Order: sequence, then C-alpha cells, then structure tokens
Amino acid sequence: MSKSHIALVVHGGAGTIERSKMTPEREREYRTGIENALRAGSTILRRGGAALDAVEAAVRVLEDDPHFNAGKGSVFTSAGTNEMDAAIMDGKTRSAGAVAGVEHVRNPIVLARAVMEKSKYVFLIGSGAEEFAKRNNIELVDSKYFFTQDRWDALQKVKAADNGGGSGDKKFIISDADRHGTVGAVALDGSGNLAAATSTGGTTNKLPGRVGDSPVIGAGTFADNNTCAVSCTGDGEFFIRAAVAHEVSVLIEERGFSLRDAAESALAKSQKLGGSGGLIAVDKNGSIALPFNTSGMYRGFLQEDGTFVVDIYRDH
Ligand code: ASP
Repeated sequence: MSKSHIALVVHGGAGTIERSKMTPEREREYRTGIENALRAGSTILRRGGAALDAVEAAVRVLEDDPHFNAGKGSVFTSAGTNEMDAAIMDGKTRSAGAVAGVEHVRNPIVLARAVMEKSKYVFLIGSGAEEFAKRNNIELVDSKYFFTQDRWDALQKVKAADNGGGSGDKKFIISDADRHGTVGAVALDGSGNLAAATSTGGTTNKLPGRVGDSPVIGAGTFADNNTCAVSCTGDGEFFIRAAVAHEVSVLIEERGFSLRDAAESALAKSQKLGGSGGLIAVDKNGSIALPFNTSGMYRGFLQEDGTFVVDIYRDH
C-alpha cells in the first residue's frame, strides 16, 4: 500500500502560560515562531522529503528564534552560561544522535544529527561534542550570541527567588516562561518514516552540568516506525525517571493503546512522580496527539489541507 499521508507537529515548550500576562504582540510573535517552524518542516514533507529533514528544519527555526528556550533564546545556568541539549531520532532505523552541555553551537540539533550520521556514537557532551562540531564544519558561535536580556533578567529573578525570596511568604512569583521551555518536532513522511527532534537550553539557574530529558533517548525524544515519534517538554528530571517518550511507544506496541491514550498515560506517569509538562506525538498512521498537564503549551500542527493550527493555551 502506498502511503502518502504526511504529518508534522511542533512545540515550543509547556508551562504556566497565562493569557493575562501575555501582550497581543508577544502572543503574535510566539505564534509566528511556531508557524515558521511548521512552514519549514511541511515544505520538506510536501515535496516528498524525509521526516528526519523536516524535524531538523523545524527545530532549527525555533533554535534561531529568541522567543524559545533553545539555541539563540537559551536560558542561563546559575553560572550565567548557556548549556544546550538536543537529540534527534530516525524511526526507520532507530538511529539516534544527541548532545548535551554545548555552549557554542549555534544549532545543537544540527550537531545531534551529525553525531547520529557521522559518528559511531549516540551521545556526545561538552567540549568533546564541540570538538566534533568543529571537525564536521558545524557552526560555532561566541557565547555572546546566546545573550538575551529577557533570559538574563529571568536568571536574576529565579536566583532571587531561590535565595529566599521564594520561601515562606513568596516574594517572587516565577513564571514557567522564566524557568524553562524547550522546542521539538515530530513528523511522518510520505514513505511512512517517523522522526523526532528536541532541543533546549534546559532550566534557568540550573547547576552547570545538569542535563534534562530532552537529549536522553527514550525520555524526551524517541521515534520508531513501528509505533510513533515523540518529543517532550516539562520537568526533565521526572520525564527521565518515567522514560516518557519510550513509554508512549511501549504502550502502543505492547498494550495496543491508541496514540492518544498512550501519550496521555505516559504523561500521567511523570505527573505522578511530580513532574508537569507536555509532549507531541505522531504515529505510523499519521494520527497526532499533543497532551499537556500545564496551563499552556506553545504548539502547532499541519492539517491535511496544508494549513496550520497554532495554539498556546488550554482553552482556545
Ligand atoms: N524538559 C526540559 C529540561 O528539563 C525543560 C522544558 O521542557 O521546559 O531540560
């Protein structure tokens, strides 16, 4: 049977996203970012390109957009540095590439793909990953490139809150936008191949060296042509402990769950441990799911007629 159905879903992070705190202008900027990512990915899929290329292209667009916590807009560590994580997985071969703790790579997702395709490894970190980037002509930038005033201000707020302002009578209310965020994409191409990609700056004020779920295959990112492709966002420690992305796949394969039920159930497992967030997923038939247990998730998907649906809040 020839398959022609294509699917693409992207996210730009889940958390407490309050309508009352969002200006119309800012909301438009976020929506435009998600749309730009969908455009980049869907253009590839519609001309017969690979899911892997589509998810990389979509994530790259979001990494270059300062509104999202990945690449250019990455949050700061407690040391005032930026340490980025990313992963990509090919559902056809279950090949995967991941990087963590990179500080000078303009597009960590491009490096993750190079790890997958140009090395015998799956996961490279820190200076070794950057050396590998250099050898493979992947763009490195000065760390100043990652400076954004909003993220810097958020670091000061989170530090102040963590140093006592947040305990007892809470002096500072820190929004999730100040704390974290992540970007991701999942796709099904016309040949029936699935792929997933995730990229993040992690969490604001994180200890240098901390790695979240995003680059951990099976936690924040997973793809298998037999089941589904998944990209997560949320409290990384809990997503790792619940192996959320792989859990979605297992529930489909071993328990016969629908994509939607599998996605919701996997997310509930990390919530039970104490973590909130969301995920995007697509299965081998092109069904999609975008569950989240926070008040919002920047998200969007391609519809069959070629148009995009973009949403932020729980209620539309
Ligand atoms: N999951 C990411 C991390 O823990 C953060 C997020 O998605 O908000 O690094």
